[in-house]
Amino acid sequence: MAAQIIDGKAFAARVRDKVAGHVARLVSGHGVTPGLAVVLVGEDPASQVYVRSKGRMTVEVGMASFEHRLAADTGETELLDLIARLNADPSVHGILVQLPLPDHLDEALVIAAIDPAKDVDGFHISNVGLLATGQKAMVPCTPLGCLMMLRDHLGDLSGLEAVVIGRSNIVGKPMAQLLLGDSCTVTIAHSRTRDLPEVVRRADIVVAAVGRPGMVPGDWIKPGATVIDVGINRVDAGEGKTRLVGDCDFDSCAAVAGAITPVPGGVGPMTIACLLANTVTACSRAHGLPEPE
Ligand code: NDP
Repeated sequence: MAAQIIDGKAFAARVRDKVAGHVARLVSGHGVTPGLAVVLVGEDPASQVYVRSKGRMTVEVGMASFEHRLAADTGETELLDLIARLNADPSVHGILVQLPLPDHLDEALVIAAIDPAKDVDGFHISNVGLLATGQKAMVPCTPLGCLMMLRDHLGDLSGLEAVVIGRSNIVGKPMAQLLLGDSCTVTIAHSRTRDLPEVVRRADIVVAAVGRPGMVPGDWIKPGATVIDVGINRVDAGEGKTRLVGDCDFDSCAAVAGAITPVPGGVGPMTIACLLANTVTACSRAHGLPEPE
């Protein structure tokens, strides 16, 4: 294996330590405790796991965690009322509505109801617009975590060829904006892209955010490239067991790449760490205090 393995778990622990330090300074120096409210509608098992670990880590870094669990048949008015209360609550600095929402709820409408200053997921159209125009925004957590790992590993990204596979609003598009902001030459590939292998072979940086297990094989990767695997796919591991794999075929990509993130233990842990970091940023901004770096 040639590639360096980028340890997202260790990196995320360092980010959480920094967040905890900043929280401690806010509490002791200013009497302010950052607070994160997480809203979960319904009983989706994966969402329940995410919400639990978000709550635990929020408390671990010294912040206040507010969990709102609503029944699957909660109506739009009730959900929007809750968001309005959280928007007005000064002890809540970050609001996250766990997606996906049940089908009868309009995700766009719900996200639009969140105060952009408390939108720690960075999905509100104001934050999307701020990011796209290079202004101070709340940046979506998963692509932010990817960018932090890329900067840490490569230093200056300026002039590098980056290919992002996937064009979702939560990963692919904001990832491309962030890479553009760091002066990469960015290509966004998707299901209609022609000759994807050739497009990917140009890349110094590959970010795969597709949701197809092992779709990117090693022979698509330029030797020495940095590969960030966002995909989280549960596959059959035999004997009634399952395991998580990414969108990249790990072994063949690791044989060619310069560095690669594993699944699990790569991008996943960074996502929650960035959510905590965004909440501290939102709290600092709300109180006119210096933001964490
Ligand atoms: P979406 O399903 O919203 O988007 C997938 C994208 O992949 C689409 O743009 C789609 O193209 C593209 N795509 C699908 N098939 C192909 C193909 N054959 N060739 C090229 N492109 C293709 O997914 P998300 O962005 O929400 O998530 C992507 C993955 O990342 C999932 O595995 C998800 O679980 C994981 N994820 C991980 C997170 C983490 O914390 N690590 C957080 C968020 C997501 P088109 O638009 O043309 O349909």
